[in-house]
Amino acid sequence: MWLTAPFDADLIDRINRAQAGVVASAAYPLTCPQARDGRHALAGGYIGVLVAQRRGLVCPTCGHVQGWLPAAVLKAAERTSDEPGAAQAQRIERMRQAALEDFRRLVRAGHLSAQPMVETLEAMAPRPAAAARSAEAAAADALALAA
Ligand SMILES: [Zn+2]
Repeated sequence: MWLTAPFDADLIDRINRAQAGVVASAAYPLTCPQARDGRHALAGGYIGVLVAQRRGLVCPTCGHVQGWLPAAVLKAAERTSDEPGAAQAQRIERMRQAALEDFRRLVRAGHLSAQPMVETLEAMAPRPAAAARSAEAAAADALALAA
């Protein structure tokens, strides 16, 4: 089965998480066919990683577009592994931070097609415990006011 563009927001996030290796079973990402021309940057651990957006998988460096991917690629990336949960969470968070820096650098260099990857990785940021607590407190206050 093939997943074909246009991709919806949920699919864009899932593909980009797999492309950046911030998934349970990271594998070699889909890369640009021109990745070895010397112009393509290393980002997310590989050269020429394609970034999912609505119109397909786009190369931030040269604009190459791939409008499809095998559904099995995503399934494999999201398959649970034997890695202990805490170790996996730490590995994924390290990958996320490194990839986020790489793709932000691409955007700053004018490769705007990298932006959907930045958004996917930013949205995955772990919530600081303090913020979660204050949100709970705010909800409790709202309930108290309503009562
Ligand atoms: Zn390219």
